[in-house]
Amino acid sequence: MILPGATLGMLGGGQLGRMFTVAARTLGYNVIVLDPDPDSPAGKLASDHICADYQDTTALVYLATTCNAVSTEFENVPATTLEWLAQRCVVRPGARAVAITQDRIHEKTFLRDHGFPTAAFSVVRSEPDLEDGLRTVGDAAVLKISRFGYDGKGQERVSGLADLQRAWANLKNEACVLEQLVPLDSEVSVVLARGADGAVATWPVGENRHREGILDITVVPARVSDAITREAEAMARQIATKLEYVGVMAVEFFVSGGKLLVNEIAPRPHNSGHYTLDACVTDQFEQQVRSLCGLPLGETRLLSPVVMVNLLGDLWRDGHAPPWSSLLAHPRAKLHLYGKREARPGRKMGHFTVLADTAEQALTDALEIQRLLARHAPGRESVA
Ligand code: ATP
Ligand code: MG
Repeated sequence: MILPGATLGMLGGGQLGRMFTVAARTLGYNVIVLDPDPDSPAGKLASDHICADYQDTTALVYLATTCNAVSTEFENVPATTLEWLAQRCVVRPGARAVAITQDRIHEKTFLRDHGFPTAAFSVVRSEPDLEDGLRTVGDAAVLKISRFGYDGKGQERVSGLADLQRAWANLKNEACVLEQLVPLDSEVSVVLARGADGAVATWPVGENRHREGILDITVVPARVSDAITREAEAMARQIATKLEYVGVMAVEFFVSGGKLLVNEIAPRPHNSGHYTLDACVTDQFEQQVRSLCGLPLGETRLLSPVVMVNLLGDLWRDGHAPPWSSLLAHPRAKLHLYGKREARPGRKMGHFTVLADTAEQALTDALEIQRLLARHAPGRESVA
């Protein structure tokens, strides 16, 4: 066990790294963040911020010699960096799990090889793959870049061959996955932690609503059947085990025609798990610290129904923050801001949660607060 007082390294200093840093420092650990951004949200709260690239040898040597354990907050850290560090200190999750989940082709192939249901898909690496792909998945499809996509970036919906050719050119003819566009009943996700001893703790299933490819709202408990809930939890658990995963991860699912399809895996805490900060016995970031340090996992029980709403940069107008007073007036609303200086459209600036006696009531209150916050920056209101 790596006990409080030790030093932990975090590759990546965005909001996920920041919330990890808060949890780790609360538990008495020192945190060193590696992130090339001098204005890194996590770097500001860490004991030390190394402002360098993820392959910078001097920085990695410093991390390896100073830290007892290192983790990552995003999947695009080069797997070679994780391998290099793993020869010198504890690294969780391991390079193999990250290498699979940072590349959609590897990820989808891994899921298919292990018998997990996904939307029909096909790999695109060359021109002839386009026509073959449409034959496999059908004419209505989504083309997704294999690496470095997030928040709906690097993907395009297509209809037919000409459209697909145009979309692939837009994505610079990079390796892609072509997926069947599936009709969605809803989307759900399971966030879980797996310890080095193989113990797994899942949080309650979240129901996710997206807007323009970006997560907008998570409702917990998810309003889906008990059978879907149990199956999603079981599948997420099996995926973590097959990946020999150690740390916190999330599995996103589509619910289509009453059946679950795995959409993607995130090898890190997840936006749809932010509700755990305010509504669970142990939150996903404390659990990330626990699993990284080999401490026993904390209980994941939900203390109250909850809704989480993302706060995107669109809500800021001419540099002015939204009217927080309308949020802060609610006695069961919790505001989380990530300390990002510049608000850009689509940029995740923070989130808030609302606790209530039922998920429906939490959603009603959350949508009302979202409406009030959007009033000074019209055009971003949710369609309830
Ligand atoms: P993030 O990393 O933020 O979750 P991403 O860029 O990796 O996003 P996906 O999860 O692949 O993107 O897709 C984003 C959203 O687009 C999905 O949550 C879903 O709402 C919609 N979507 C993606 N693929 C499909 C599909 N095959 N059929 C229907 N809807 C889809
Ligand atoms: Mg996604």
